[in-house]
This record gives sequence, C-alpha cells and structure tokens, in this order.
Amino acid sequence: MEILADKFDDIKILRFEVPEFEHLDLNKKLFIYYLSQATLTGRDILWDQHGKHNLLLRDVLEAIYLLEDKGEEWDHFVVYLKKVWFASGPHHHYSTDKFVPGFTLDSFKSWIEKLKSGMGKLTSQHLTPENKRLLQRLVFDANFLSKRVNMNTSTDLVQGSANNFYEGPNQNEVEEFYRKQKENADNKKLSFGLNSKLIKENGAIKEQVYSERGLYAKALTAINHHLKQALLYVENSAQKESIELLIAFYKTGRLDLFDDFCIKWLSNLEGDIDFINGFIETYGDPLGIKATWEGVVQWIDTEETRKATIIADHADWFEQNSPTHQKFKKEKITGISLKAINAVMLGGDCYPASPLGINLPNAEWIREEYGSKSVTLINISNSHHKASLSTGFAEEFVLSKEEIALEKKYGAISDNLHTHLHECIGHGSGKMLPGISAEALKNYGSVIEEARADLCGLYFMYNPKMIELGLLPSLDAAKAHYNAYIRNGLLTQITRIKLGDKIEQAHMRNRQLIAAWAFEAGKGKVIEKVIENRKTYFRINDFEALHKLFGELLREIQRIKSEGDFASAQNIVETLGVNINRELHEEVLQRFEKLKVPPFTGFLNPNLVPIYKDNKIKDVVVNYLTDYTTQMMQYSTEYGVLNAID
Ligand code: ZN
Repeated sequence: MEILADKFDDIKILRFEVPEFEHLDLNKKLFIYYLSQATLTGRDILWDQHGKHNLLLRDVLEAIYLLEDKGEEWDHFVVYLKKVWFASGPHHHYSTDKFVPGFTLDSFKSWIEKLKSGMGKLTSQHLTPENKRLLQRLVFDANFLSKRVNMNTSTDLVQGSANNFYEGPNQNEVEEFYRKQKENADNKKLSFGLNSKLIKENGAIKEQVYSERGLYAKALTAINHHLKQALLYVENSAQKESIELLIAFYKTGRLDLFDDFCIKWLSNLEGDIDFINGFIETYGDPLGIKATWEGVVQWIDTEETRKATIIADHADWFEQNSPTHQKFKKEKITGISLKAINAVMLGGDCYPASPLGINLPNAEWIREEYGSKSVTLINISNSHHKASLSTGFAEEFVLSKEEIALEKKYGAISDNLHTHLHECIGHGSGKMLPGISAEALKNYGSVIEEARADLCGLYFMYNPKMIELGLLPSLDAAKAHYNAYIRNGLLTQITRIKLGDKIEQAHMRNRQLIAAWAFEAGKGKVIEKVIENRKTYFRINDFEALHKLFGELLREIQRIKSEGDFASAQNIVETLGVNINRELHEEVLQRFEKLKVPPFTGFLNPNLVPIYKDNKIKDVVVNYLTDYTTQMMQYSTEYGVLNAID
C-alpha cells in the first residue's frame, strides 16, 4: 500500500492500514461498518460549525470542480479546494487564518458565471446575486471573517472569531449567559453550552440546541439511524446502553443524557471495538465552551494494549511518585484504562487531520468520579513514522550522528510510550482544590492541561521503572525522546507557523513553553544552544538534570491548574509559549523549505465496502484504493445531509 496519497501546499495526505480486519467475524465487521456510517454522517455538522457559509462555499467550489472548460489558474483553484476540504472550511485548520486563494477574482467570477442549478448540489438559491457577492467576500476579502478562532485577548474573543458558535453576542454577553444558566440550573455539573449556538436577536439572546428537533436535525437524525443499526451488533451490554443514551442525547439535546452516555461509555472496557461520536473538543471556541462534532471508530491492538495496560495498572504508583504537591494528588486513581487501538474510520474534527491519542470524557467531574478512557492510535502513528523516515528532516536539525541513530532506533517506541503516559497518567492525574473549576484558567486552560500531560510523560519516561516494567529497553530510548521533544519545542515545530505570526494552538504553545522553560531554567547548560555553519541546534548535555527540571515544572503547572491560578497561567504562557524569535524563525523556515516536506499531515479513510447476497450483507471488505479528491467528492455526495440553504 502506498502511504503517501497526496501533497499540496503545506499538507500531505497519508493512508493508514487497518491490519487484520479480514479476520474479524461478521458481527464485528457489521458493528464497525454501522458505527463508521454514523462517523461519516456527521461531516456536515463540523463544516457548519466552522463557519456559517462553509456549506454554501463547498457546494459552489465542488460544482466549479465539475466544470469542463477550466481555463487558466485551474491548478490554483484545485489547491484551494483541497485546502478547504482539509480544513472543513476556508480557514487553515491549525492557524485558523483565512486562506489566500492563488487565483484571481476574475477567474472566480468567470467560473461562477458558468454554473447552473443542477450542477453538483446547486439549486437556484445557491447563486442569487447576494450569495455571489457573499462568496466573493468570503474567498477574497481578507478582512471579512478573517480568523476562525481568535485568541487575541486584547480584542473581543467571540466577535473576532469567524466560527459559527455565536451570532450577535459579544464575549461578556456569552459569559454572562452561561453564568446565569449555571446559576439557575438544578444540576450545576452539566457542560453548559456544549451543544448549541448562541444567537442575539432584537436584543435578546437565544440558544439553539443541536438535536433531532433543533439545529442540525437532519444530520443528527441520520446519525441516529446508523447508531440504531449498530445496536444490533454490539459486543456487550455497556455498548448497547451507551449507544442508546447517545441516541437519546442526539434526539433531545439534553446535556444530562450526554453525561449519562459518557459514564456508560466509560464502562465499556471489555469490547474489542469502541467509538467516539459526539460534540467533544472545545478548541474551536476561543472561550472553550462549545464543542465541535467528531467521530472515530476503532478496534483494539492487542500487543500494544498489553504494554499500555501495564501503565494503567500502575496508575497509583505514578500518582504517588509524581513530583506534584501532596494536596493536589488524587488519593486513589480509579477507572483509568488505556488502550492502544487501530483507527478504522475518522470523522468530523478527527478527519483528515487525526489526533495520535485521545483521552475522554472532557467533563472534569466525570473524570474525577469515574475516571477516563484513553486511546493511542497505533496505525495512525505508524503511518506518520513510515512517512517521516525518508525526508532528511532529522539530518537537517540534529547535530550528531549518535542522536540520529538514537532517533532511528528508539523514535517510534518512545513516542508511543509518551503518548500512553500523556493520555492516561497525564490527563488522568491530579485534582482540583475544592471550589475551583476547570474554567478558572479561561483561554489558558487547554495549554496548561496539555503541558501538565506532556510533563507527566516526560518526567516518568526517564525512570528505571520504565525498564523494570518492560516498557522501554533502556534509558537511551528516553534520551531519544528528550532529544526529539526539545528539538521540536525549540526549533522544528515553528516550521508550521508563518514568519511574523505568533503561536496560538494549545499543543504547540505547551511544547514551546516546556522546552523554553527548561532551556532557561538550565541556564543554557543543561540544554545548550549550538551554532554550527550558521545553523542553530539544541543539544542536551545533562539528561539527569533535564529530568529534574521537568519534575519541577510539572509541580508548578499542577499547582496552577489545581488552584485555578489564572494570573500565573497567563504569565507563563504569554512569556514562554506564544512568541517566536524572528531571526531563528527565519533561519528554521529556510532550512525547512529546502527539504520540501509539508509540515501538516492528514489521512484518507479506507472504504468499507459491504458485500451483499440476497439483500443481506454477507461480508465487509476494506478497500484502500481511493484518492483524496475522490474521497472528498464521494463524502459530499453520500454524506451531504445538511443543506447549504435552509
Ligand atoms: Zn492531551
């Protein structure tokens, strides 16, 4: 199987393998199949959440793509369309800045003039003069809806964001609305505002809830249809009951049902097959209230899970041996489970860019009372590694041959271990002081939480216990990971950022924060900045000392989270996690440019093809023979359940 499927602008598209699928029995294949249908069916929800006009834009761009008379600038159009597909809208998936098209307004106008209703999904309402003007602004006017997620705290975070979670209210009004909602609620633990859009009309603020009777009704009804079919093939009663609760949640939009679902979902530990389906991640909302829709269908990787289970079984040991203050530790960690899985189908906010590890649920009170479930996506990370081996990337940014050898020998194994530790021990550990809520850190909450999880992984990895438990062959593997982490945090991750821009994405902020803090705390001796042939490198001189520094920082980050210390969170993130040294940035971008490696990665899903006999499915087979454009066009046709014009 060819791993690399496509390459455009700053993005590469890879395939991932679903090993051993053919050996599953038919029941499991059908369970996976219907869950996969439910995963793909939520696609339009994310598009609409990302921007009010995104479905309109997609319909029109896809109709243009089908034109026969293409004219000049066509190649630029195709790149633009591929980027819009990748980001589920016209804003970059990572920077959330609006794309700048490589074609001219004249070309765009001439393509649009050739469109007629009936082409693709176009109706007469798509191309009213009003919509044509709107699309021109959306594609070409840099000041119109310019940023999907605005994290610039000197402005109104809500009004400065182009996402479709709010229409009308400003930041204060939103915060006030949910403060009151919580105040008036009987159950104050609910994730208020998670699954809705807030609209201000004639001075009044109204909430439109996502449900079969509310916003996104068509999509949620269609998802429920597939979930009901999946119910016929569950492996156990926990799966059955959790899917029934999810169906009820989508039907009503009631947040208490979503909490019930999460708790029931946590109890499915025995099944080989599992899924994520719901309004989950809040990174798309600068206030961290509203969640984007996502889905994953997965099935267990037995060998990797055996290793991960060893970590989960020692969760208490990790908590007690953590360098954090005793009063921020959980007395007893329960319910932590960590599974290594192979993804079978990615959807919504997990597609095409996929996470490498997932820890859910997000509701803090459920995590504290019932624990959390963690997965690492083995086949996805294997695809990454396979693709990265031949790029020359390590050779460019690593100073010594020994370090490269370490990376090649241990890079994959230590990376998987870090993900296990991050997801299970990291996110699962620690507790809040009484009365402190996770929202206390506001827009810095995600960065601090990711830093906490990463630091757990970094701190514990360099420990003889890892060897004792059979998780690492030697501490050299941990050294390989320290090298990679520091190199990424101080040097190579900024290849993803345009010159002059700041770091905004939570994971990137936390990585730079950690690496830069360790560099400064070690006074340039523990980690040394080396310049050779006018190229900058970072070299770790003292791994033991770096390990201790990670412990120190973990202690402080845990304190900030547990106490809800907003001022300290703001200070550490803004001083270390946001700014990039311009000179270094320029140098790194130049070195990276020569390698011609796209910094961002996404994945194609395999096609699951049902084989029918006498109107019944008698088998499901995996087919990898698709390409990026075909898959996107196919998804728009088969799963385009929401109308752009309503
Ligand atoms: Zn995380």
